[in-house]
Amino acid sequence: MFDLKERVAIITGSGSKKGIGRTIALTLAEQGAAVVIADINFDGVQDTVNEIKEAGGKALGIELNVTSKDSCDAMVKKTLEEFGRIDILINNAGISQKVTVQDMTLEDITRVFNVNMFGLFLCTQAVLETMKDQKYGRIISLSSVSAKRGGGVFGGPHYSASKAAVLGFSKNLAREVALDGITVNCVAPGLVNTEIWKSLPEEDAKSVIDSIPMGRPGEVKEIAATIAFLASKEASYITGEEIDINGGSHMD
Ligand code: NAD
Repeated sequence: MFDLKERVAIITGSGSKKGIGRTIALTLAEQGAAVVIADINFDGVQDTVNEIKEAGGKALGIELNVTSKDSCDAMVKKTLEEFGRIDILINNAGISQKVTVQDMTLEDITRVFNVNMFGLFLCTQAVLETMKDQKYGRIISLSSVSAKRGGGVFGGPHYSASKAAVLGFSKNLAREVALDGITVNCVAPGLVNTEIWKSLPEEDAKSVIDSIPMGRPGEVKEIAATIAFLASKEASYITGEEIDINGGSHMD
């Protein structure tokens, strides 16, 4: 697909066995990148690391809490000790909650923003100096269709707001680092065929499918393939962009 040999990629939230992050890591590794599998839940991390190593790839597992600056800085330090550079950061770690504004507490919205926006900020800030020194970097963050059309599938209003914040933050950063050889982009998936989708009651699932022109959820491989392109040197003139991956369920 794309040549990522000699590239080093960190993927946050890639420990979940059924999640998007794991497939992003496997896809980047297939293209030749050395990958860092980082997650607060360390259980799934080592399995993915082993799978990549058994296939002849390079991988490192790190326990990461994106809400802690010390943890993000330690991840960068360990990555540099192991691989010597950081070319790609995929901000994938995220949490959600189904709740209404009426019922939401300040703790709820703080928890979601702490991971989805402030954690993304801490991880991003932690890699900037290295990418600037290299004069090369690719930062790609997971937003959501929920940011653009105000939910509609699963997450609550705090989730939509945090994923909209990711878009504004990324565009602003794209301007800040454009002359440093660093591009900053987002992808905004619609419904993806993960555990959340499988957990929806049949009737809710039908109404969601009816709202998608392609008549199906996205597959994790489809999200990972778009990210692999944005992470490649071929995407060199794309920055401050957000790519919808939603089967036509929302068109700007
Ligand atoms: P997931 O729950 O399977 O994976 C998220 C991962 O983030 C988990 O492994 C979790 O342990 C990790 N994580 C949570 N808090 C963390 C923290 N503080 N520090 C480090 N890691 C932490 O979710 P997913 O469905 O694979 O979603 C991945 C990303 O894609 C998320 O940002 C999500 O908002 C976004 N997204 C998902 C969908 C979808 O339909 N699944 C749609 C649009 C956007």
